[in-house]
Amino acid sequence: MEKMTAAPNSEVFRRLPSIDELLRVEEIAALVHVHGRQNVLEAARCGLNDLRGRIASGALDATKLDAELDALPLAVQLVVTQSANCSLQRVINASGILIHTNLGRAPLSQRAVERIAEVSTGYSNLEFDLDAGERGGRNVHAQNLFAHLFSRQGIDRAQTAVVNNNAAGVLLALAALANGGEVIVSRGELVEIGGSFRIPDIMERSGAVLHEVGTTNRTRIADYENAINERTRLLLRIHRSNFEIVGFTEQPSLEELVELGHRRGIPVMEDLGSGGLVNLASFGIQDEPNVFDSLHAGVSMVTYSGDKLLGGPQAGLITGEPALVEKVCKHPLYRALRVDKICYAALEAILLSYLREEYDEIPLLRMMRMTPEQLQARCQALATAASSLSTQVIATETMIGGGAAPGKSLPGFAVALQSDNMSTNELALYLRKLPVPVVTRVEDGRVLLDLRTVDPVDDAYLAHELAAIN
Ligand SMILES: *Cc1c(COP(=O)(O)O)cnc(C)c1O
Repeated sequence: MEKMTAAPNSEVFRRLPSIDELLRVEEIAALVHVHGRQNVLEAARCGLNDLRGRIASGALDATKLDAELDALPLAVQLVVTQSANCSLQRVINASGILIHTNLGRAPLSQRAVERIAEVSTGYSNLEFDLDAGERGGRNVHAQNLFAHLFSRQGIDRAQTAVVNNNAAGVLLALAALANGGEVIVSRGELVEIGGSFRIPDIMERSGAVLHEVGTTNRTRIADYENAINERTRLLLRIHRSNFEIVGFTEQPSLEELVELGHRRGIPVMEDLGSGGLVNLASFGIQDEPNVFDSLHAGVSMVTYSGDKLLGGPQAGLITGEPALVEKVCKHPLYRALRVDKICYAALEAILLSYLREEYDEIPLLRMMRMTPEQLQARCQALATAASSLSTQVIATETMIGGGAAPGKSLPGFAVALQSDNMSTNELALYLRKLPVPVVTRVEDGRVLLDLRTVDPVDDAYLAHELAAIN
């Protein structure tokens, strides 16, 4: 009985090509040039093993196998492109959220990318003092450019340390300045920033003890003062960057906190989160504090992200009094949280754009400066391209997002799409599955393409893909 089923199977097995024969098939040989021999070999083995398994289970007889063999080059190609492809890829952000943490936050400027290429395709003086010809410190980089920017605003003697991100900056600053002591924070500021950044948790890891004062909606300067004791190391202010408390609220001003700190000899630190390096009012965002405001108010240290409103690479910036910043840089954790040459290269390029006041070089600021009229014209051009969809150009609001400027938005326009053949979710999925995925915003049963967050050079691609939908 066993022999009788084995015999036809082995007949079918014999028709399978060997790996070498398979690699000589023209379409598969062509793949080797693109993906390399080893990747194609593994994919071909995978394809053959799949066929063997199906023959053994009786699912493939001789005639079905012929069709499978014809399709094998395509199957190998599918496996090789899936397994040897980068998972991180460029997407078009048509969501209208400017600082979108899930989409990589601020896009890098052309100058930053050029700087990265220039500095990091070879060796660099990352930690090398070219004058002395010996080991130097990496924290000298970006230092002068930051100092120049600050001194232009009348802020002298501020130093800046760069770490991996702002969460790292807060952790390191607390560890360096408050380990073993207490940090006073208002209950109204004990925020969770998207993706599990919680001040109480960070505080615990830093070795500092959280001393909460006030209530969620009201904290007075006297609450801070009453909480000060011999273990107090720091007064901490956290910018409510992703939510607003409105209504019956009270919060001492930063100046009041600084005055209290001075009087009692305790430094004030501010976690600003999204620290802009320009006055954002000229970009249409009112009342959003920037790094200069914090330093002018007299805080001893301020921490902020590199890839939020600053518009640069992922980084945590720690700016403050030189003695305190030096403490931060000498802390053992600094070694674990420091950034690489790519980050310094990008950061210096962005700072140079700020110093030259070439704000349009910084993609985030450029997008913020697009006028509603410009956006409306782009939307109208795009709407006419999507001939098979029902389109409408509508006025909309672009969110700043990314734990920055809570509740703040910029007026603009979007193309609203509806299809007779696809549901809203199907259309949104279709757009996400394009060769360059397009991430949209679904609102009121329509798919919105908010062009403020789309680079104008991508308009042609969008028009092309929308025209191809039928
Ligand atoms: C965004 C943010 C953080 C975290 O910054 P990352 O750069 O994402 O690590 C911390 N604090 C505040 C107030 C923020 O807005």
